Amino acid sequence: MKHSLPDLPYSIDALAPVMSKETMEYHYGKHFQTYIDNLNKMVEGSPYEDMEIDEIVRTASGAIYNNAAQAWNHGFFFSTLSPEPVEMPETLKERIVKDFGSVAEFKAAMTKAATTLFGSGWAWLSEDKDGKLVISQESNAGNPITKGHKPLLTIDVWEHAYYIDYRNVRAAFVENVFGIVNWEKVAGRL
Ligand code: MN
Repeated sequence: MKHSLPDLPYSIDALAPVMSKETMEYHYGKHFQTYIDNLNKMVEGSPYEDMEIDEIVRTASGAIYNNAAQAWNHGFFFSTLSPEPVEMPETLKERIVKDFGSVAEFKAAMTKAATTLFGSGWAWLSEDKDGKLVISQESNAGNPITKGHKPLLTIDVWEHAYYIDYRNVRAAFVENVFGIVNWEKVAGRL
């Protein structure tokens, strides 16, 4: 199976100033593309050649896992953003209030996960096996589907995600990302 770069659901410059066109040209156009290209090269002639990307992420390890999971994570990340503000649907709000106390407490916990993750990785909101919403930090190419969780939202905190626009200030990037989340997409994954 040949993996390909998914189209963005908005134009390449639509997320500015939260993510500038230059950031997107590198992040989506180069980093994401490279994970896809590496994955295609690595799976050729391997047991992973005909697998869907989800199955590769669940079953592979090493370099194949890293490239498959980074491709999966980036597709998920970019598809969950919107240049137009999207209100959080009540269905999601109720679940967040139930498991975190309030939307503000959820945002604070997700921000803490994203800003305190040491090195490269991802902050995730997922639904665990018991149906509880949980926040987790995953280093490098980590992905909650390997633990049987259902991912709902992620924030990429690799330096390539923010260094052009925010230099070293990861916290400002994370705060601004909350303003471009497509909450309807997040709610639709419940
Ligand atoms: Mn990235």
